[in-house]
Amino acid sequence: MDIIHLLPDSVANQIAAGEVIQRPASCLKELVENSLDAGATRVQVIVRDAGRTLLQVIDDGIGMSETDARLAFERHATSKIREAQDLFSLRTMGFRGEALASICAVAQVEMTTRRKEDETGTLLEIHGSDIVRQEPCSCPVGTNIKVSNLFFNVPVRRKFLKTDQTELRNLLTEFYHIVLVYPKVTFTFVHNDEILLELPAGSEKQRIEAVFGNPKKNVYTSAFVDINTDTELVSIHGFVVKPENATKKSEQYFFVNGRYMRHPYFLKAVQTAYSGMLSNDYQPSFFIYFTIAPEAIDVNIHPTKTEIKFADEQTIFQILMASVREALGKFTLAPQIDFDTTGSIDIPVAQTHPVSLPKVTVDPNYNPFHSRQSYVEQQRPVSHWESLYEGLKNERSHSELNDGMSASLNDDLLRPEDVESCPLWQYAGKYILLPTSHGLVLINQHRAHTAVLYHQFLEQLRMTQGAMQQLLFPEVLVLPPDEMVLVDHLLPDLRAIGFDIEQLSPDSFSIQGLPAQLANQSAVLVVQDIIHNVRERGADTQTEWREQIAVTMAESAAIPNGKTLSEEEMRELVTKLVELPQYQRTAKGKTIVSLLSDEEIGRRF
Ligand code: ADP
Ligand code: MG
Repeated sequence: MDIIHLLPDSVANQIAAGEVIQRPASCLKELVENSLDAGATRVQVIVRDAGRTLLQVIDDGIGMSETDARLAFERHATSKIREAQDLFSLRTMGFRGEALASICAVAQVEMTTRRKEDETGTLLEIHGSDIVRQEPCSCPVGTNIKVSNLFFNVPVRRKFLKTDQTELRNLLTEFYHIVLVYPKVTFTFVHNDEILLELPAGSEKQRIEAVFGNPKKNVYTSAFVDINTDTELVSIHGFVVKPENATKKSEQYFFVNGRYMRHPYFLKAVQTAYSGMLSNDYQPSFFIYFTIAPEAIDVNIHPTKTEIKFADEQTIFQILMASVREALGKFTLAPQIDFDTTGSIDIPVAQTHPVSLPKVTVDPNYNPFHSRQSYVEQQRPVSHWESLYEGLKNERSHSELNDGMSASLNDDLLRPEDVESCPLWQYAGKYILLPTSHGLVLINQHRAHTAVLYHQFLEQLRMTQGAMQQLLFPEVLVLPPDEMVLVDHLLPDLRAIGFDIEQLSPDSFSIQGLPAQLANQSAVLVVQDIIHNVRERGADTQTEWREQIAVTMAESAAIPNGKTLSEEEMRELVTKLVELPQYQRTAKGKTIVSLLSDEEIGRRF
C-alpha cells in the first residue's frame, strides 16, 4: 500500500503558520508590512488584550480587487515577485506570499478592501482557512484586516504566549522597527481603547523624537549627532548619541534598505568607535540606516529572522566605524573615562581624545556584484571578526582559570570565626586580602557588597519593608509606552522596596522618595536601569522581576572599586558575605572570591 499522501491545505497552512506567525507581534509585523507595500500613507493599528483577542490594521493603500482579495489568502500567493530572479532585487518588505495564508490558518479573519477604481469593495471572512463569507461591501479605499482570537485552534501556541505585558511589549518593539523606517507614513497604535502612539508624518529625526522623546521639546534627539557617509559600496546615515549623553539603557537600531536588522558585527564597529569615550556599562544609542544595492545583501532567509548577510562585511565595518568616529570627532568631545575597569573589557585599544578619523581605504574599483562567486567568497569575514574577540577570549580563559582556583575553595574555607580574627588588607582599592590556612584569599569588594545587598533587597521585597528616604526635590521619570506597560506591574514591588512613586500623566511618574540605601543616587537613573534590566531579561514573573530589581539596586548601591575601606568596614563586609548561602559568585555569576593557594605562592620562589 502506498503510504505517502499530500497534506490537506488547512494542515499545511497551520504548519507554515508555526514558522511565520509565532506570536501576535509577528502577525502585526506581517500586516503592517503589507500595508506599507501597498503604498499606504496612513496606518492604524488597533489591538485588544495584547493581540490575543484582536489585532486590526487599517490602511489607505491600493486595496485589492475581488479576485485578489480571495487569492491573497492562498499560500505562495503574492503580487510581489514572479520569478526566482526577482528575489535578488527585492524592494518590498514581504515577498513569500505566506503571511496571510498563515494568519488565516490560525485565527478568525475579517477583511474589507477596495481599490480606488472600484465602486464597491469586497468583504471576506475566513475562519481557520475556511471561507465563511465573501460579498461586496461599501468601504473606504484601502484595506482593513481584523484578526480575532489568534491561535483559537492551536491551544499549544496559545499557552506558549507570555503575559499581556510581555506580548504588548513585543508588539511595540516590532512596531518601532517599522515606524522608524517609514517616517513619511502616519501611524497610530491603540491598545484597549487607549492611544499609545500617535506618529505624524515627518523626518526621521522627528519620528525618533515622537517614539522615544517628546515632539514638543525635542530633548531626546538633541542628544544625538548626525552621521553621513556615501561610498560606492554603501551609504550610511543616521544618528549616534553624544558620548556624554550615553546611559546604561540604550536604543540601538540598524536598518538596511528600509528594514530593521540585527547585526552584532556592525554593533562592534559602533562600540569600537566609542571606545575610551564611555564609562563602564554605558552603551551608545544609535539609529543607523544603511542603503546598499539589494544584490549585495541576502534577506532571503527565515521570515522571522532579523539577521541579514552582507557581501562585504569587513569593508562596511571599516566604513561604519570611520563614519561614527568622524561624527563624534567633529562634535568636540570631553571624553568621560572611567578608570574603574571591573567586569568590562574595551575591545580594541582604547582611544582617548582628540578623536582622529582613521584612514579607510575603499577600493574604488570594487564591485560587489561582479560575480556570484566572488559574492560567496566575500561572505567570510570570520577571521577578522574573531580577532576582535581575542581580548574577550583571553578574559574568558582567565576567569576559567579563576574558576579552577575557586573550585578548590571549600565552603568552610572562610569560616565566620576566621574572619573575626584574621588580619585584612585592601589592595589596589578593589580587593580585600586575607590569609587563611589554604593560601591567600582575594575578595572583590564591589562584587562582595553587591552580593550582600542583593540578598538584603530580595528579603526586603519579600517582607515588603524597604526603608524609604524622602527626596527634597521630586524627580520626574518620563517613559516610552513599551516601558510604561512594564512599570504597571513593577509598581507594587518598587513601592515595597522604598520608592515613593506616583503616576503623573499617561507617560510620566514623579519619584518623591527612594530606598535609603540608594540615598545619594539619582532615583530616575536607578528606576530606568531597573526597567531596562527587566526588559532585557524578559523578566516575566514576579520572582524574575524581583531578582532584577534587587540586582540593579545592589549594583547601584554597592561600594565602588577605588573606595578605601577601613579594616572594620572590610571585616563587616566579609562577615556578611560568608553568611550568604552562596558567597563565591554574584547573582550574575561573576567571581567574588578567589584563592591564591600555598602551592601557587610556593612555586614562585
Ligand atoms: P506577501 O506580502 O509576501 O506577498 P502576503 O500573504 O503577506 O504575502 O500577502 C499576499 C498578497 O496580498 C500580497 O502580495 C498583496 O498583493 C496582497 N495584500 C496583502 N495585504 C494587502 C494590503 N494591506 N493592501 C493591498 N494588498 C495586500
Ligand atoms: Mg506580506
